[in-house]
Amino acid sequence: MGLNRGLVQVYTGDGKGKTTASIGLAIRAVGAGFRVLMVQFIKGVRKTGELETAALLVPKFRIVPAGKGFVHLGSRSESSPSDSAEAAMDALAFAWECMESGEYDVVILDEVNCALSLGLIPVNEIVRMIEMKPKDVELVLTGRGADPKVMEMADLVTEMREVKHPFRNGIVARRGIEF
Ligand code: ATP
Ligand code: MG
Repeated sequence: MGLNRGLVQVYTGDGKGKTTASIGLAIRAVGAGFRVLMVQFIKGVRKTGELETAALLVPKFRIVPAGKGFVHLGSRSESSPSDSAEAAMDALAFAWECMESGEYDVVILDEVNCALSLGLIPVNEIVRMIEMKPKDVELVLTGRGADPKVMEMADLVTEMREVKHPFRNGIVARRGIEF
């Protein structure tokens, strides 16, 4: 039993809900008997709610935080750009191997679009990965600023648009809601 027709999904845009949508998808898939892997690019320092939930569902739902800290240019940077690029390329290689292993039905590359737009991963690598995707695997890519080529190759593209976000009123990220 598995997916007989796996597609490529993209969740992008500047509104909230891209990672949340992919976690919702994971929860649904696990309930249907599928095995889900989420590799988190960029993220990896803060312990998120989803990470702890996934731990309850291992091995059906596995989350691997593969980024080395948040990549921001400037003084708040927690890792150097070359470290981040190396971490992103390692994460990609790991996700790719898992995608081809037959061990997962759904593979989620969380924030990979950001890793691409920051130049941590060459677009050609993702293009090749999409081309190599086994027929029975659903591949999901999230993050702002999805590359046009990736959107063109995808079967499903949803753009989250910010209408309002509490951050604008000074309400910062809340544990269990934003992370
Ligand atoms: P979420 O993880 O809540 O589903 P997301 O994946 O759509 O959000 P990202 O672009 O990955 O959003 O943003 C990273 C962080 O910023 C998350 O904590 C997210 O909740 C928060 N966030 C999302 N959209 C906005 C926004 N429009 N303004 C401010 N913060 C945002
Ligand atoms: Mg996100």
